[in-house]
Amino acid sequence: MKIHLVNPSDASFGTAVITPRWMYVLAGATPREFGDPHLVDETLSALDPLSIEPGDVVGIGVHTANALRGYEIGRIARQRGAFVIFGGIHATLYPEEAQELGGAHSVVKGDGDLAWPKVIHDCGSGSPLPVYEAGRIEAVDFVPARWDLIPRKRYMWASVQTVRGCPKHCSFCSVWRTDGQRPRQRASDAVIEEIVQLRRLGFLFIALADDNFYPVTLTDLELAAKQKATGRLKELEAMRAERFELMARMAQLPRDMCFFTQITMEAAEDPEYLDAMRAAQIKGALVGVESVTPSGLKDVYKEFNASGEVLVERLRTFRRHGVYVLGSFIFGLPSDEADTFDATAAAAQQAELAFAQFVMLTPFPGTVDFNRWEKTPEAMSTKIAGIPITRRWLIPPNLRPKLYWPHPRMSGEEIRGRTQAVWDKFYSVASIWKRSRFIKSKQGRLVILLISRIYRQMYADTGIATDSARTTWSARWARWLARPCQALFAGRPMPDLKVPDQVA
Ligand code: SF4
Repeated sequence: MKIHLVNPSDASFGTAVITPRWMYVLAGATPREFGDPHLVDETLSALDPLSIEPGDVVGIGVHTANALRGYEIGRIARQRGAFVIFGGIHATLYPEEAQELGGAHSVVKGDGDLAWPKVIHDCGSGSPLPVYEAGRIEAVDFVPARWDLIPRKRYMWASVQTVRGCPKHCSFCSVWRTDGQRPRQRASDAVIEEIVQLRRLGFLFIALADDNFYPVTLTDLELAAKQKATGRLKELEAMRAERFELMARMAQLPRDMCFFTQITMEAAEDPEYLDAMRAAQIKGALVGVESVTPSGLKDVYKEFNASGEVLVERLRTFRRHGVYVLGSFIFGLPSDEADTFDATAAAAQQAELAFAQFVMLTPFPGTVDFNRWEKTPEAMSTKIAGIPITRRWLIPPNLRPKLYWPHPRMSGEEIRGRTQAVWDKFYSVASIWKRSRFIKSKQGRLVILLISRIYRQMYADTGIATDSARTTWSARWARWLARPCQALFAGRPMPDLKVPDQVA
């Protein structure tokens, strides 16, 4: 009985930007008596169905964007006589869909780390359960990834998780509802050991794949102190101390390493934290700016963010402390006007963002927005190719609309066109070159130029373009560029690297 883990994708690039961490974690959770699992990341190359034998176990992890391909793989695996198990956010939200369309014998809902060995044993005895309610496990039970199984020179970035869950409640985000609002933070020992293992293999670039790298804000501490909530205050202080402990240990790692994470804008009010990040070589962070206007922030329940001049100053603060920002913006919010696009592009330039992404408001399953949207008369009555639009991930990709939420003043096409124009402006060669002036060497600036263009091709055209020729061309272009780019990310292995000690 062989174990297969499959990360579905419609497009294979031969090289990928980032490792699908879940696959390596479940490889770590696979009982050793079943041997090393067969890992298939379809962003590298497509699954070979003939590799699956009757009685094998095939684990498929899906999120909404790759669910359709995931179901196709599930049906193939089932036809080959394997046990088919689905997991991931989308399967957790729609278990019956994986069973009806993906040939699933079982669906694991929630964190798979502890449930996976039981699933495999149940398959071994021929009687897997239809659903495993795995729930949310504690941080101490997070399983370390099996990085020894990673193919060399195929990924630019490895990924390590330090914390799951986010205390916020943004309307477009499913994290706080699926991973919970109580941050579950790993101890520094577990994290640093994974990082060192990756550097030993030659990985220089590691994404800290966290929901929010800043789980305890200064405001949280002040509030707990003001309310005289002694127990809560102690808990928050311990979490904050653990963050600093981790970053102090990361600061002892080889200086050629580079980390990237995801963080809320509130960290800009905490210079001590930003300085610790810089010392830890966390050189970049995705910051969800979402909107540059107060009404836009209200639209998405993100009023804790700043807007206008204060926003620009906050984003610049990151840079002043050595943390370069990938700003994320949403277009198509109900309060957006035609001039919001230009104002956003200008704010992104003024804030000296290193990178930016501009996405169109899309209600994702598991979010407050989705719950509201799927109850609107328009969503309830629309079908495409016979499929309700409220199950849009089941619609063939070439027939899917680009915009789902009617805007009170702009047409969908206007929002799409203006969004594309902002991408084009922000990622023009001249703009990228100007933005890269913070790097001294010409070679370094060329690397930024290359990465920026790849980023744009992978995420802008393929996500927004309406004509399939442009989408296909973009994917091909990204594939050509990805290979030489990968070489820039690889480092010399350091097999003897020691794990930094705990800081006294
Ligand atoms: S968008 Fe970011 S800050 Fe908001 S809930 Fe999601 S992870 Fe938390």
